[in-house]
Amino acid sequence: MPIPGSPLEVRGLTKHFQGNQALNDVSIAALPGQVTSLVGPNGSGKTTLLNLISGLYRPTAGEATLAGERLSGRPPHLVARRGVARTFQTPVLPDGMTVLEAVASARYAKDSVSIATTILRLPANRAAERSREAAARQALRRVGCEDLADQDASGLALGSRRRVEVARALAGNPHLILLDEPASGLDEGEVEELASVIRQVAAAGGTVLLVEHNFNMVCSVSDQIYVLESGRLLAQGTPDEIQRNQVVAESYLGQ
Ligand code: ADP
Repeated sequence: MPIPGSPLEVRGLTKHFQGNQALNDVSIAALPGQVTSLVGPNGSGKTTLLNLISGLYRPTAGEATLAGERLSGRPPHLVARRGVARTFQTPVLPDGMTVLEAVASARYAKDSVSIATTILRLPANRAAERSREAAARQALRRVGCEDLADQDASGLALGSRRRVEVARALAGNPHLILLDEPASGLDEGEVEELASVIRQVAAAGGTVLLVEHNFNMVCSVSDQIYVLESGRLLAQGTPDEIQRNQVVAESYLGQ
């Protein structure tokens, strides 16, 4: 089944916190079928950019649009309803649920069923529940974790937890997926597995925006890379172009 990705456009996005210019006039684009990555040293503005897109921060100037519709400045739940899914640096899966339930409940949240229904897990109706479960199974299959469906979600090892987080993001059929440091804490084999999952999501049509410290992984999965430094865009290009860029080598990679 294809993933219905939509084009993201960020134009002149700027965020100042009481005199601290976290992000300055940054413009990027992310296309369906591609992995677009943001890299840069700590404090360069990567998380701020994700927070502006997903509605956690309001921009000082500029905007982010998805398929032409404005996202920035809207509250997170409305951004989510427009089809933006996000994973976080520290994945926390709900307690007392199986992996399948944890993935299905993420879709539940997007469907905006009442909170009481979600918490008590009362079926809104049987057909809806079955469709959520089927979507959750498909999402788990996409990340290669279908065999974990009946396990306790909170007991998963980090590598599986990160892939299940991606499945939770996928379960709502998102138009844009924001991945925040998904490889951190993983060993080499787990990073490779995750990279392959991310590639497959893009190959299925998804629009993926990845923030990641692991530069080798970024180069192996990305179509486009944007390099941020001190809140500004330092460079943009394919992995080849970024690896050959002397300014990036000197300032970001410290060579
Ligand atoms: P990165 O994700 O690249 O490490 P951040 O986006 O977290 O960078 O931070 C960019 C700058 O913005 C840093 O100087 C950081 O201290 C500042 N910053 C981020 N969030 C806030 C906030 N909520 N309040 C004040 N300053 C912030």
